[in-house]
Amino acid sequence: MMYPPEPFKIKSVETIKMTTKEERAQVLKEAGYNTFLIPSKKVYIDLLTDSGTSAMSDHQWASMMIGDEAYGGSENWYHLRDAVQEVYGFEYVVPTHQGRGAENLLSQIMIKHGDYIPGNMYFTTTRTHIELNGGKFVDVIIDEAHQPEIELPFKGNVDLKKYQNLIDEVGANRIPYICVGVTVNMAGGQPVSMENLRKVKEISEKNGIKVMFDATRCVENAYFIKEREPGYGDKSIAEILKEMMSYADGCTMSGKKDCLVNIGGFLALRDQDLYEKATSLVVVYEGMPTYGGMAGRDMEAMATGIYESLDFHYIEHRIKQVRYLGDKLDEAGIPIIKPVGGHAVFLDAKRFLPHLSQDELPAQALSAEIYLDSGVRSMERGIVSAGRDEKGRNRYPKLETVRLTIPRRVYTYSHMDVVADSVISLFDKRNSIKGLEFVYEPPVLRFFTARFKPIE
Ligand SMILES: *Cc1c(COP(=O)(O)O)cnc(C)c1O
Repeated sequence: MMYPPEPFKIKSVETIKMTTKEERAQVLKEAGYNTFLIPSKKVYIDLLTDSGTSAMSDHQWASMMIGDEAYGGSENWYHLRDAVQEVYGFEYVVPTHQGRGAENLLSQIMIKHGDYIPGNMYFTTTRTHIELNGGKFVDVIIDEAHQPEIELPFKGNVDLKKYQNLIDEVGANRIPYICVGVTVNMAGGQPVSMENLRKVKEISEKNGIKVMFDATRCVENAYFIKEREPGYGDKSIAEILKEMMSYADGCTMSGKKDCLVNIGGFLALRDQDLYEKATSLVVVYEGMPTYGGMAGRDMEAMATGIYESLDFHYIEHRIKQVRYLGDKLDEAGIPIIKPVGGHAVFLDAKRFLPHLSQDELPAQALSAEIYLDSGVRSMERGIVSAGRDEKGRNRYPKLETVRLTIPRRVYTYSHMDVVADSVISLFDKRNSIKGLEFVYEPPVLRFFTARFKPIE
């Protein structure tokens, strides 16, 4: 089926409120034209992120009721650990409050000053933790990932030649691990093929480099492998996931995405030595190694979510609902990143607003305009998110995008229609959209809290 119907029925509803355009203009001004700073009650359809915004199932809500809130050895911890071992196949699990908690631990235990960490395109919090620990992130994704109009089935793949070149150039002993995102968020939710993962593992093993996955979106990646890679069409999502993970020495996970919960995460490892280092740090930053910043009930809901995410009908609907929005925009001639990835539709702001230079923050400006037009909240993923380099200069990413991120199991196809109509109507009057400039710029991860004003 092209766009399968929702594989769930609705048991509880949350009313959303429509605002007027005048109201939204005021809200936008008060929020410094940064969609992160808009109060959620002023948002109609919230596509800011799919992080922690999933709707939990009745079974997950039931899980919340059996929370064992013991400081040490909570029953729910054992359930979570067992789920991670069974579904992802890693022996050692360190719970954390969310994905970046795991990134912090991994970066601290593995990176020495002056090390290089290759990866298939940066992610904001991942790179920040690498840099805070004295490492240098090196992008080894295939070139095509930086080109929005090129269609490839596995546009998140590691460029093996770039990876090998880095090893030859700096020496394997300066590369503690390669970080492989499955899927690649910043490239548009693009997947990595099984074949590529296998080869990355081969090269890494030969050179004594560990492979660490950013497994945040691994179920989406597994779906794409099933859909697109020869030999995997008849395999279950669970089987594909297991094989993917067999090519990694460990992973960081933001449970707020593919584990279908509102908060939580973990670091998973195969190496006992690394595990012991991580547990000695988790008590400093997160909590006991049997809760890591989560309540017992949160761990139980995540364990349940990990199993639910393996359901083919769930993940098929999730991917195809995103694709529905993308196809609708594409058919109307809106420039988007292609092919449409796993969790979001990315508008190509450079082609949407060609009259603005990248210094005029086109993606930030476009996300503000979309909110003003319809109350739909999106996120900038361009020059503002890319931040500054070590010399304090702006980074100029090739991709300047607005991300329309679809929460899991929350909205229907009719909501997608509203979003598409708003974007299409703005495209018709795109020449009137003005750029933005900073009025406040925080030193790290500036996109979260920066403030802007229109350039007159
Ligand atoms: C969200 C995300 C993270 C960070 O996880 P948090 O739970 O937000 O801390 C890391 N990597 C990717 C790919 C993500 O999407």
